[in-house]
Amino acid sequence: MSFIVAIDGPAGTGKGTITEALTKKWKFDNIDTGATYRCVAAAMLKEKIGLEELDKIKELLERIEIKFEKQGEKELVFLNGEDVTEKIRSKEVSNFVSPVSSIKEVRFKMVELQRKLAEGKNIIMEGRDIGTYVFPNADIKIYMDADVEVRAKRRFKQNQEKGIEMTYEEVLQNIVARDENDKKKEIGALKQAEDAIYLDTTNLSVEENIKAVEDIILARMPEEVKKNLPQNREVKSKEQKKEEKTKKELRKEAKLKKQEQRAYAIRPETKWKQFERKWIKKLLAGVYHFLFKLEIKGEPIPEEGAYIICANHINYWDAVGLVVNTKRKVYFMAKEDLFHHRFLNWIAHVFDVIPIKRGTQDLEGMKRALKVLNNGELLGLFPEGTRKGIAKSGKLKNGAAFMALRTGVPVIPCGIQGNFKPFTKVILNFGKPLDFGKVKTPEKEQLENASKQIMESIIMLTNEKI
Ligand code: C5P
Repeated sequence: MSFIVAIDGPAGTGKGTITEALTKKWKFDNIDTGATYRCVAAAMLKEKIGLEELDKIKELLERIEIKFEKQGEKELVFLNGEDVTEKIRSKEVSNFVSPVSSIKEVRFKMVELQRKLAEGKNIIMEGRDIGTYVFPNADIKIYMDADVEVRAKRRFKQNQEKGIEMTYEEVLQNIVARDENDKKKEIGALKQAEDAIYLDTTNLSVEENIKAVEDIILARMPEEVKKNLPQNREVKSKEQKKEEKTKKELRKEAKLKKQEQRAYAIRPETKWKQFERKWIKKLLAGVYHFLFKLEIKGEPIPEEGAYIICANHINYWDAVGLVVNTKRKVYFMAKEDLFHHRFLNWIAHVFDVIPIKRGTQDLEGMKRALKVLNNGELLGLFPEGTRKGIAKSGKLKNGAAFMALRTGVPVIPCGIQGNFKPFTKVILNFGKPLDFGKVKTPEKEQLENASKQIMESIIMLTNEKI
């Protein structure tokens, strides 16, 4: 569908400026009908064709080619392939155009061109006879007018900006003469269409003028055109983006929830699970021994009873090393994120790794760890919290100390030495169990002291000469 706004009125009312501003804003097409007549006038001047030479004019109209082209912000006018945007505003053309536009043949041809240019488009067309003659069925018609001296001043200023040399008096005379001539035309005379909205722009600034016309048009613009205006399209896309963002966030939340559920799900102990654990342990032990020259030193891990094995954390392989090289089953505690990876999640569940959420008091994780100890089994964890945690944050986690004090279970410190580069030496150096006794509700200080003691023992074991 096409939506047509017709703006008519005498020279200097602001039609051109307003049309340009609004078409740019709404991404409409702008057809400057005055420019089409100016092109004919310019061509006649160039070929020295007089106003009475009708045959020559008719012949000229047959071969004349007028085109409008947008180049960036500018709307250029081409006459037979030549850019005449500036030329058609000259004094000579301005003085000649009105009588040229009165010639019937010229009018017919230009109106035909203007209608063609507007086909199927949303346009604001400005001129003298748009609402009355070119598009008598235009969707909106506006007739702009202003005091003649104000109009002359505006045009004079415009001309100066464009470097067109005309005195104010000349501009005024030209405007008066053109208005008069335009009003007297046999076809397409300048007059207000009956259904046009009248707008006096005498006291309006450019901005006020634009706003006034914009309001008139917006108030009457059909919804289907309005919703496609760039500003509304932007609003829509912003809304859509917001919706999409919340959808994305919701999806992410759901995914995290699913991952969390997966991490905390308990895989029951079955024969198959035992079989898996046995063979994965053998396989990982094989890989471990192939990759590293392993040495296990220090105190042997007691064959029975609950203990908390605490080690320094250098690399993921150190946890693997402790699990696969310890005869007894070690229930390691690991950050919950590890379970987000499908493969690691499977391995972790085979070895009953206990998920622990970072930065929270993970009661579920704690409960599971305490259960392991109450069952007289081995619990493994890294008091540093993360790999090379001491070096990174310097802050110890009190989890191991809490569990040791709460249950009275001794801690076996383990110093891991090595850089875990392939085929290099890795030492697991186990120390004597540290017994802190049982404290039902340990104080902060007690926890910190126990943590410090555990870590000091680990460090000593890592510093022991190889
Ligand atoms: O709008 P502009 O001042 O460029 O128009 C130049 C001249 O073209 C007008 O003075 C008028 O004589 C003529 N014209 C016309 N019909 C139109 C537009 C312009 O006759 N629709």
